[in-house]
Amino acid sequence: MEMPVPCDKCGEWVELNSTRQSETDRNKLYCESCYEVDNEVDTLHQEILDLEYDLDNDAEHMKGQRREYKKEIKEKRARIAELGYDYEDL
Ligand SMILES: [Zn+2]
Repeated sequence: MEMPVPCDKCGEWVELNSTRQSETDRNKLYCESCYEVDNEVDTLHQEILDLEYDLDNDAEHMKGQRREYKKEIKEKRARIAELGYDYEDL
């Protein structure tokens, strides 16, 4: 049975069984292309959290390279903004 629903992000009508559950907001259903962006943002977000955790805990592998890792976080945050997401809302 066909059951079209609007994508919670772009509003485009898509078949319910071709939607994907958002990685950043479990209550939302996205179309294929919105999901891809959402998934990339979620991955970047997790990577940032991992980097921040290691920085906070003075991880051994970061010794002498903290500046580089901080730069990497900045770049990932910029990419998230570029994809239309607000890092603070994640
Ligand atoms: Zn969409």
